[in-house]
Amino acid sequence: MKIASQAFVALVGILMIATPFAGEHVHDKGKVFIVQEHDELQIQFEIPAINVFEFEHRAQTAKQNQRVLAFLDSLAKPERFIEIKDSCQLTSSQEQFSEHYLKGEVHKHQHQHHHDSHEHSDVVFSFHYKCAEMATSFSFTVFEQTHHLHSLTAQWITNKGQGSEELSSKNSKLNW
Ligand SMILES: [Zn+2]
Repeated sequence: MKIASQAFVALVGILMIATPFAGEHVHDKGKVFIVQEHDELQIQFEIPAINVFEFEHRAQTAKQNQRVLAFLDSLAKPERFIEIKDSCQLTSSQEQFSEHYLKGEVHKHQHQHHHDSHEHSDVVFSFHYKCAEMATSFSFTVFEQTHHLHSLTAQWITNKGQGSEELSSKNSKLNW
C-alpha cells in the first residue's frame, strides 16, 4: 500500500507539473484529468478563463473581481463541477488561478506583466478525494457553471488502465 500510495503521489505530481501550461489553449474546450489509485482520487480541471470568467486577464473592475471570488468560493462545493455517485469524501482542493486573476494580488511573474492584456490562460483547479470503494461513475456538472464550454476532454489513469473520452453538455457522464 505504501508503494502504491507513493506511486500515486508521483503520478499526481507529474500531472500537476506537466499539464497547466502544456498543450493547446482553445476557447470553449476544457480538459479534465482523473487519476485514481485504490482509495485515492484526484480530479484536475483546466478550463479556458474566457469560459469561466468571460475575460482572460487580471480582474480590472470590482465586478470582474467578484466573478473570480465567486468562482473561488464555489470550489468548496465540488458537486458544482463533478458529481461522483460513489462513496468518496473530498479531502482537499487546490487552485492555480487566484494569483493570476484576483485584482491587486502580487504578481509573482513580473516579466509577464506587459503581456497580461493578451494573455490566454486556463483556470486550473483540482479536487482530491478518499473513496471507500473505487469510484466508477462521474457526472460533469461543470458545463452548468461555465459559459459556452462546448467540450471537455477527459483523460484518466486508474488501477485498471487509462483512456480518454470527449464529453459535452449532452454527453456529460463517464462510467467504468
Ligand atoms: Zn484564450
